[in-house]
Amino acid sequence: MALADEARRVAAEFEYSAEDVNKGVREFLREMDEGLVKDGTSMSQIPTYVTAVPNGTEKGLYMAVDLGGTNFRVCSVQLHGNTTFSIKTSKVPIPRELMTAETAKELFAFLAKQIESFLKQHHEDHYFGHLERVETGGGTVREEDIFDLGFTFSFPVHQIGINRGTLIRWTKGFNIADAIGKDVCKLLQDEIDELKLPVRVAALVNDTVGTLMARSYTSPGKTGTLLGAIFGTGTNGAYVEKLDRITKLKKAAEKGEIGEYDQSTGEMIVNTEWGSFDNPLSILPNTPYDESLDKESVNPGIQMFEKRVSGMFLGEIVRRALLALLEKDGGKVPLFRDENSNMNDMHTTTNIHDNSNLFKQWGLDTSFLSTAAGDASQGLKITRQALNRELGISAASIEDAEAVKLISAAVGKRAARLAAVAIAAIVIRSGRLEIATVGDGTSEEDVIDVGVDGSLVEFYPGFEDLMREALREIDGIKEQEKRVRIGIAKDGSGVGASLIALVAAKQI
Ligand code: ADP
Repeated sequence: MALADEARRVAAEFEYSAEDVNKGVREFLREMDEGLVKDGTSMSQIPTYVTAVPNGTEKGLYMAVDLGGTNFRVCSVQLHGNTTFSIKTSKVPIPRELMTAETAKELFAFLAKQIESFLKQHHEDHYFGHLERVETGGGTVREEDIFDLGFTFSFPVHQIGINRGTLIRWTKGFNIADAIGKDVCKLLQDEIDELKLPVRVAALVNDTVGTLMARSYTSPGKTGTLLGAIFGTGTNGAYVEKLDRITKLKKAAEKGEIGEYDQSTGEMIVNTEWGSFDNPLSILPNTPYDESLDKESVNPGIQMFEKRVSGMFLGEIVRRALLALLEKDGGKVPLFRDENSNMNDMHTTTNIHDNSNLFKQWGLDTSFLSTAAGDASQGLKITRQALNRELGISAASIEDAEAVKLISAAVGKRAARLAAVAIAAIVIRSGRLEIATVGDGTSEEDVIDVGVDGSLVEFYPGFEDLMREALREIDGIKEQEKRVRIGIAKDGSGVGASLIALVAAKQI
């Protein structure tokens, strides 16, 4: 049994044809529309109450904080009004005991304390000047002294206003029952007020919205950025939608479930939560490796798009595909076999350590795909070294490395083509392609801007080219693909959150 043939067979299982891509776009459009009408759909399509994107001329000093996992980040951002900014940042680990504190107050008091230290350290004059005025002026805070703050809170919340959202549940090791159902902005504001800090929690921020805002400020097209998308540990996107299409928002307002919201721009950014596109599974590609990954995951049947597109899962898909190849027909495929053994033993002896990560769930990081798929070294030396380092496979042959490269590239390519499905659907739905071009499609007026962030899109070799190849195959886009400008948007939770605080401050 030739290894190269077998590897090609496995790689072919990950092919995602032009026809399938188009089918994917049609379903994505349907689910986008459905999510705007009612709750409880496959894609959540969450209204964010952010009703404008920056054009690069925004100015001022804002603050942003980010509570997302192991660290709490505090920063202040000076927007210069010319698409540039300066940023000051501090980061502190969250003490473990606060993640599972008795009361929400303990955690949020700690967060407010960090904001206080940050102000003392980086905005000394401002902070002490304010304190003196408060003390001599009987405790009143001057409006001009107040920092508006964007609060990136990466846990599931039910957002009911631009700076109001109740915690649905904790994830990532946090567990403070007392906080469930409470408004997290108010929890933070109360502790900030106890310390008499000149800070107003102006906006509750989702990281994809931050990405969109950061990109729109730093790279403004004629119309502002359409979409912010993350391809990192997870995947998600937020885009600019017409307000009158978000009918569930209007209904919620009529029922009095939400308060007033800004309608002046006729638009609102919607957080798609596209990681759950096509749940339950109907049109996404599904190999035996996808199936077993899902079955043995903590949330089977859920986040099916994310499980095929994001950094958390791609390494695991490749690991499962390699393992299947190794075990095929009782080990007849000559993958990772010991070259020194004689022919009879060849198919039973491997050069893999027993405790190799190849045999462990989540044993292969997605960065390995980038290494293998992009390997142009002689004799694929880099991939062979990585196999040794990451999987404990000593003395991998060139044929082994070629097989690994082929399969890694196939999984990466499928992810990029799936990413294109999401981008294409949003570009099509925006109607911006229907506006005739004034130039050849690449001039500033014609551009449809998309901001992306995350290690996968940043480091996987040719991810953008692979997405573009798929965009050109999609009905409704085809040669208009060149109008879509895709660029990295860094620091959504810093500069992006500050920009949301700016937009929000105008509304509250
Ligand atoms: P996050 O999304 O958590 O903010 P990142 O954007 O850095 O952070 O994404 C981390 C994910 O990206 C991890 O799942 C990791 O496996 C994957 N990753 C890290 N480096 C690379 C790389 N060079 N190529 C592809 N994926 C990578």
